[in-house]
Amino acid sequence: MKIDLIAFNCRYSHSCLALFYVRQELVRNLPDSTLSLRQFTINDPYYKTLLGITGGKADALFFSAYIWNADYLTRLLTDLNHIQPEKPIIVGGPEAPTLIRKLSFSPTIICGEIEGVGEAFYSNLMEGSLKKEYFADPATTFDSPYKQDDFINQLKNRNIYYESSRGCPFSCSYCLSSVKRGVVSKDVDLVTKELGSLLHHAPKVIRFVDRTFNADPARTIAIWEFLADQPQQTTTFHFEIAPDLFTEEMFTFLETLPQGLFQFEVGIQSTHQQTLEAVNRKMDLESSFHNIQRLVALNTIHLHLDLILGLPHDTEESFYASFRQVFSLQPHYIQMGLLKILPGTKVDKSRAAFGIIACEKPPYQIMATAWMDHETLARLYWFGECFEAFYNNRWFKTFFSFINKSEEDVVLFWQTLLDLCLEHNFFNQAKTQKLMCALLRQLAKAHPQKDILDELLIYDWLLCSHRFLPDFFVQNLNKYRNTLWSSMPESVPGLYDNKSRSEFFKRTVFYKFSGKMLLETGLSKTDDDGFVGFLNQQAPGVMKRCKTLLLPHSVPCE
Ligand code: SF4
Repeated sequence: MKIDLIAFNCRYSHSCLALFYVRQELVRNLPDSTLSLRQFTINDPYYKTLLGITGGKADALFFSAYIWNADYLTRLLTDLNHIQPEKPIIVGGPEAPTLIRKLSFSPTIICGEIEGVGEAFYSNLMEGSLKKEYFADPATTFDSPYKQDDFINQLKNRNIYYESSRGCPFSCSYCLSSVKRGVVSKDVDLVTKELGSLLHHAPKVIRFVDRTFNADPARTIAIWEFLADQPQQTTTFHFEIAPDLFTEEMFTFLETLPQGLFQFEVGIQSTHQQTLEAVNRKMDLESSFHNIQRLVALNTIHLHLDLILGLPHDTEESFYASFRQVFSLQPHYIQMGLLKILPGTKVDKSRAAFGIIACEKPPYQIMATAWMDHETLARLYWFGECFEAFYNNRWFKTFFSFINKSEEDVVLFWQTLLDLCLEHNFFNQAKTQKLMCALLRQLAKAHPQKDILDELLIYDWLLCSHRFLPDFFVQNLNKYRNTLWSSMPESVPGLYDNKSRSEFFKRTVFYKFSGKMLLETGLSKTDDDGFVGFLNQQAPGVMKRCKTLLLPHSVPCE
């Protein structure tokens, strides 16, 4: 029997872990079948994709349904059924039960984990007597499903997803992971063996899909130590972690890590106690914030924090309060995602009690709740979009860190920026660094600290290794270089000597900043004006900005 296993991912760089698990089970149960894995994206041209699937001449087709591909699959499965009505179609994945309700025919669906589906499914498949539905028992084992060839074909230039444990110890009522009880963890020896074989192929990124990776301290450290001990051809390991579950041993280990090797994703979701209780989310906020501050201070781990917009009991004010607290931590990335009302979750079953109105189709985004009408939620959504565009890159980090430290209400600051964006139709334009810099500059003009903010924008711009300033800053950088060239000594120990002087001046960009700006940002300890050199080298830290140096104050500033 020829079977095609088909995935629709969001982007080319993604891969579908479930597809490989399904293949593993088919190999185990139907060793004589011929299996092909086929990964597409939801942005691929529809008709060509359809022809690619019908042209595969498989005897049966397997699909994985998720909220991001459910619409695409609804259309595709409908058309496949029209053209090949006899061909068995088997659909698994969290969206499978919802998806089949939208179809005018009934494919076979598998509810639960493929490892737990009984033998009857495989014999029915071979005999052509598939039932409409198979319920799988929870899996107790789930070996890594990858084969050597996958790294040459299916996984080349893609993220690799790996799970060392399945299930989550928590039960947040909006999350599908809470529907299944308990956690199954693989033995650490098996995990390191499997990881060793993945690392042998030197994938760029391995993303652990464990829902709370650091739930078991000893296990966490054993796996982290193993990863850190390997030759570092894999540049990033991504983990979802719970910040209140960090231990001193974890910090001791993390302090030894090279820059950028680990990425942590942390769900804060809300800091409003009533909201956290309403969604059954257990988190010690105080210790979470303390630990996040320590992680930020390390500056070697990319830190991504999540807030959810539209949770029960969250009002506009309580959402802004969560934002203030999370923003004050200054992580590298803050995502403010809309609550999604996933079918089968507790929050879905409490729609009436929470006054929830959500989109009918995947990804089921929230539109209003009893605590936030649609207008309020829309405003907060654009607030999040504005923040996403301006903050979640490396372009304005010093600027925002200054805003964070100032007395100013950060919510008011971001609201003012949002109004400016709406006035300039920002969300319908290419969001370039130059455009954003221009809007921040316009906002700075009406600000009590306008001179420093202007200088910070220049500082951040030059930190991104630009060798020129945008035209709205009128200063000529060559003027500074010429001044310094003629006034600086022939050699400055640690900077350049006679031989390397020209090269130093050629490669370095200079700017003269006010003493006030240098002092307030901690670049200098005195309030004297000074020149900063932006070197042609990357500074330590995960933001990939260039190295700077404050030229000695003996250098004349005029
Ligand atoms: S939201 Fe995260 S912590 Fe909560 S149940 Fe889901 S996976 Fe677990």
